[in-house]
Amino acid sequence: MSAIDDLIAANQRYAEGLSPDALPLRTGGRLVVVTCMDVRIETGRAFGLSEGDAYILRNAGGRFAPALASLVVSQEMLATDAVAIIHHSDCGMMSFTDDALRDRLAARGVDANGMEFGTFADVDDSVRDDLRAYRSSALVRQDIEVRGFVFDVTTGRLREVAA
Ligand SMILES: [Zn+2]
Repeated sequence: MSAIDDLIAANQRYAEGLSPDALPLRTGGRLVVVTCMDVRIETGRAFGLSEGDAYILRNAGGRFAPALASLVVSQEMLATDAVAIIHHSDCGMMSFTDDALRDRLAARGVDANGMEFGTFADVDDSVRDDLRAYRSSALVRQDIEVRGFVFDVTTGRLREVAA
């Protein structure tokens, strides 16, 4: 079985055990979490979030730029009013550079010049950069709580990063 076959089988078990009114139609949550797609970050257990509690926007690194469109939608259409930006220790986005990735793509004939992948050298700096990027965007709400953190994948603890 492939990983996707496993997913389908797990979903069948999940759906069979679900009562019709078990899932909220719309979240009551007003929180948006922007975090990395890293498989070690299990947002439910690590952050105490269940269905309906929060909108989770995940991408490589947990970067602000690729999350921007979804952030705007959540704020304008779903009335979210808090944003937690959570990067993490040992992030794969510190293990290569945008240029290295562009070179890989160029080696198979793909021009990725102009595409930003969001790699970074220091996780505290990346959180500060994204807090700064948030604060300088007119598209997102500036009258709400926006905070940045580093999640330690070894200890499981969150550490806040001052803007
Ligand atoms: Zn990561």
